[in-house]
This record gives sequence, C-alpha cells and structure tokens, in this order.
Amino acid sequence: MENKNLEETYGQAAQAIVNSKRCVALTGAGISAESGIPTFRSKGGLWEKYDPAIYASIEMFRQDPSKYWTIRGEFIRNYNNYYPNPGHLALAQLEALGLLRCVITQNIDGLHTKAGSKRVIEIHGSLREIYCQKCRKQFIAPDVPEGTPPYCDNCGGVLKPNTVLFGESLPPHALMDAQTESLNCGVMLVIGTSANVYPAAALPDMARQQGAIIVEVNIERAFAGVHFFLGEKAGTALPQLVSEIKKLI
Ligand code: NAD
Repeated sequence: MENKNLEETYGQAAQAIVNSKRCVALTGAGISAESGIPTFRSKGGLWEKYDPAIYASIEMFRQDPSKYWTIRGEFIRNYNNYYPNPGHLALAQLEALGLLRCVITQNIDGLHTKAGSKRVIEIHGSLREIYCQKCRKQFIAPDVPEGTPPYCDNCGGVLKPNTVLFGESLPPHALMDAQTESLNCGVMLVIGTSANVYPAAALPDMARQQGAIIVEVNIERAFAGVHFFLGEKAGTALPQLVSEIKKLI
C-alpha cells in the first residue's frame, strides 16, 4: 500500500478511518511545531544547544534544578500564550464526529485539551501542573512563584512540573491505557513523532502487529512499514484528512 499520489492517499486513509471506527492518534512534538513550540530536532531550536537527554533528565534535575528551569521556565510562565493549531483542531473534530477514540500524546503542552479533544492520554505528563517536591502543594501554570528554580511558598521545597523526565517511569495508568488502545485500534494515526523515545515509539508496532492500519503524518518519514504516508505539515494534512472523511459520511 505504498503512496501513489498524495490525493489518492488522503482518500484511502480517510476510507480506512471511516471503515474502522476504532481509530486512535499518537502525537509527538511535530504537531505543536506550528503553534510555535520547537521540536527536539528543530534547526536553531533550544535543544541544539542543550541536549534534552541531559538537561531534561531526572538525574540533572536532582543535581541542579536551575538547569531544567532555565530551559523550561520561560515556556511554563508563558503557558497561556500558546494556542492549538489546525492540526490539533482537526483531531478534536474527528473525535466529535465519533471517529477517533482518543489521542495518545507524548506532548506536555496541553494543546490537545485546549483544542477541545476530550480523551487525551498524556503519557509524558503535563507542564500545566507543578508540584512541590517536599509538601506536594500544587501550582497551575503559569502561576508559579518567581525564581530559577522556583521554590514552594508553603515549605520552601523545589518545584517540579508533572512531566516525565528522562530516567523516570511513565505514569502507569496512562501507559496502560495507551497500550490497551494501541492493541485494540483498527487505525493508528501517527503524527509528528520521530520515533526515538520509548516506550511511546513502540506503540505503532504494537498496533500494526494486531492488524491495525498505520497512517503517518510527518514532514519526513520516521516509521518503517506504514500503510499510508501523508508527507505534509500536520496543520495542513489533518484538516485535509478530516475534509476527505466528511465526504464519506
Ligand atoms: P521529536 O522532536 O523527536 O520529533 C519531531 C517530529 O515531528 C519529527 O519527526 C519531525 O519530522 C516532525 N515534524 C516537525 N514539524 C512538523 C509538522 N509541522 N508537522 C508534522 N510533523 C512535523 O519529537 P517526539 O517524537 O515527540 O519526541 C521527543 C520527546 O519530546 C517527546 O517525549 C515529547 O514529550 C517531547 N517534546 C514535547 C514538546 C511539546 O510538548 N510540544 C516539544 C518538544 C519535545
């Protein structure tokens, strides 16, 4: 089922989603690139200067949390200034049409929920919630105390967002939900992920081995063995896919 031409591929992918009624989406940093949030691999992005495997690791956070807050603090304090783009909105529409069971996301930016998606499985957590490491007081972004790192105004402990850093385990319920959805889906839409970070990167294989059709949306191919590849930006491809689906229902 290799791509012949793009228009035909949109039509075939749309038909597969309509036929299946058990479609799930797996999203990565690429879907939020058009909202102005750089991916790990973006040219000139923050992560070219700071290796995320070091600066976003739990080991580094324990040694010196100011390093993590230097690279993430600005984003957290501007949390409300980032908006969903047409890619996020198209997935919310697909769910509202009854054709998308859930979004499994590696992103921590909260944009799927802001776009109106109801069932979002955040396997790497969210930057929205921030906790004191000592007394567990919760803060909601962007309302965090000043400072790099910020300290709890209750007990003076260091604050940490509720996200999974390199070296930490994934939240078990979210991972279990993501794996169950992957094992039971008929179509998996794999959007804007480079397939480098496990266990998320294993979910498409899990789905395919159970017979699911894999539709990849990315500006460059990241996965081997996908059935349909839509090689455009997510903010272009997903609205186009939804418009093809609407012609069929
Ligand atoms: P990645 O940075 O490794 O890869 C991004 C992928 O998106 C690439 O394959 C790239 O070709 C593709 N891409 C870039 N722009 C695109 C666009 N407009 N449309 C479609 N595809 C596009 O990201 P990853 O695979 O998600 O893995 C990295 C880890 O980084 C994840 O764990 C994620 O939690 C974290 N992360 C999250 C955010 C966020 O929350 N927005 C941002 C950066 C990194």
